Amino acid sequence: MRRLSILGSTGSIGKQTLEVVRNAPDDFTVEALTCDSDIDTLYGQIKEFKPKLCSVVNEAKAAELSKRLSAEGFSTEVCTGKEGNITAATLDSTDTLVGAIVGFAGLEPVYHAVMNGKDIALANKETLVAGGDIIMPLIKEKGVAMLPIDSEHSAIWQCLKGEKRADLERIMITASGGPFRGMTRAQLENVTLGDALHHPTWNMGGKITIDSSTMMNKGLEIIEAHHLFGISVDNIDVVVHPQSVIHSMIKMKDGSVLAQLGRPSMILPIEVALYYPERGTAIVEEFDPFDAALSNLTFERCDTEVFRLVELAYEAGRRGGLVPTVMNAANESAVRAYLTGKIAFLGIERTVFETVEKMMPSIENTALTLETIGQADTDARAYADELINGMS
Ligand code: NAD
Ligand code: MG
Repeated sequence: MRRLSILGSTGSIGKQTLEVVRNAPDDFTVEALTCDSDIDTLYGQIKEFKPKLCSVVNEAKAAELSKRLSAEGFSTEVCTGKEGNITAATLDSTDTLVGAIVGFAGLEPVYHAVMNGKDIALANKETLVAGGDIIMPLIKEKGVAMLPIDSEHSAIWQCLKGEKRADLERIMITASGGPFRGMTRAQLENVTLGDALHHPTWNMGGKITIDSSTMMNKGLEIIEAHHLFGISVDNIDVVVHPQSVIHSMIKMKDGSVLAQLGRPSMILPIEVALYYPERGTAIVEEFDPFDAALSNLTFERCDTEVFRLVELAYEAGRRGGLVPTVMNAANESAVRAYLTGKIAFLGIERTVFETVEKMMPSIENTALTLETIGQADTDARAYADELINGMS
């Protein structure tokens, strides 16, 4: 039985995590749920799963929820702000944190959860992109488990079960290619927000959907894989595989290539993480090699001349230090600006490149701590926002 604190429970991964719990109520308890501001969804989740504690970042919304819950006789404690996420992450009765918050905000609660001996089931890739160098050693030191939820990393992790890490030669991380696969730079100038939000194979939150359209999602995942599996980014290849059936592959030193297959659904990687080292029962429709829509698997190279953020992510991964933090922060600012119509599609890439270039000299040789990472994140956002204001 796992006792869960789910951070970001009202989002795409959060809801699918609760679907896994709903399907096997004897295998899990829900101790805490948190969100940014969607208290209507959170209220429904509290009624159904009866956590001890919940938290809403937005203070006014937290107060409104608190009133509603006490009027209905619920004893759920209501917290708020950044602190509320940490309280939920470190709750005594919890043994596993599900990191389903979007963005850099996920890092601090994960850090405190590890410090308090909790296992981490992690969807929030930005946590490892910015903080992998401090989180992964801490995971080892505290003897807790890091259970990847991102589908590619779940695939790699499953393929690595029983293998020696020293025998792993390369990782081939698959990518659907997103909605703009095959386009030229000129075509990217004219894409609309609606086009970017229309992902061909996955149904996800807004930020990661835009990251998939710029291919930055794959860039972030390369750095995530580097931290999770202790492999240099230059030994990680991106393989565009539009059907999203093979969730990633690994090549061992004898040339064997291992892969994990499934329909594109996050339910399965969530189950794999939460049941580890056991297996749960099948919830989603299984892969059928005789289904005509799934039997034709194809592979392409990623065009990094068009999707330049992938190449930038490789470079950030090679340089390490605070460079991935700055890249991630600029991307978060740019994606938010794009989602609210402030900048054009290629403005995302421009913001990220220019912010990294501008900040590079000031961050080199800085020691990595939670504080220096937080400061680099804040500074990069401020610079990116200036650029964005100049563009809009
Ligand atoms: P989403 O936008 O659907 O949901 C985000 C959740 O986080 C919401 O519940 C929101 O209220 C909450 N949130 C946002 N900021 C918060 C904060 N400061 N404190 C507390 N809660 C906060 O996002 P998503 O698609 O579920 O993605 C979540 C994470 O999982 C991202 O890092 C994403 O890259 C990763 N991921 C998602 C998928 C997917 O299929 N959706 C797949 C792989 C990885
Ligand atoms: Mg992924």
